[in-house]
Amino acid sequence: TATSDQIKNWLDNYAVLIRRNAADLTELDRLIGDADHGANMQRGMERVQKLNAGDFADSAALLKRAGMTMVSAVGGSSGPLYGTFFIRMATAIAGNEDENHVVDAATFGKALRDGADGIAARGKAQLGDKTMLDVWYPALDAYDAAVAEGKELHECLVAASEAADAAAEATIPMIAHKGRASYLGNRSAGVKDPGAASSALLLQAAVETFG
Ligand code: ADP
Ligand code: MG
Ligand code: MG
Repeated sequence: TATSDQIKNWLDNYAVLIRRNAADLTELDRLIGDADHGANMQRGMERVQKLNAGDFADSAALLKRAGMTMVSAVGGSSGPLYGTFFIRMATAIAGNEDENHVVDAATFGKALRDGADGIAARGKAQLGDKTMLDVWYPALDAYDAAVAEGKELHECLVAASEAADAAAEATIPMIAHKGRASYLGNRSAGVKDPGAASSALLLQAAVETFG
């Protein structure tokens, strides 16, 4: 299960992972984009980290504000995409927390999937376009398989995170069809998609956070 305090810890742990990996994310984006993905994510997540969990009634309210913060703090396309992800998660969780603000593994998985569907709708991207979606969908399929086996949240997240790491690597040979990397055509092949890499980190942060 996930509690609203854990959800704030998740966002904070993600901010730490982003800071630690910002140079690598920017380097990927230098190779197939405009060299700002690490800086974009760091700027946004530092603002999210400053949010006070105590100022929000529940995790849905916190996630909604986190998403709005990403949209307003990040100029690049990743801001609206991660923003939509968190806002859609908030909508899915709202009304599905119990009286102690606890969310079960199936509800959390549904929220993550609604978030990914939000990215797809916002970016008009599909699986195979060499974007963050190429991490989210394989990862969530692994997550759902773990839920179906009756696994607890932590084990579902471990399965998702392992699938996400493999899926991020699998973006290397892909040719981009969305975003700045698509301007390179075939020359976008050979480099991991930066947003795929940052998405895998969000699941890594979840594994660290949710016991
Ligand atoms: P920008 O491209 O505006 O500089 P970033 O560098 O922060 O923004 O983010 C780039 C990442 O955003 C890409 O690696 C990709 O994963 C993701 N992305 C870009 N466009 C789309 C899209 N249309 N749909 C889904 N993801 C996208
Ligand atoms: Mg960029
Ligand atoms: Mg940019």
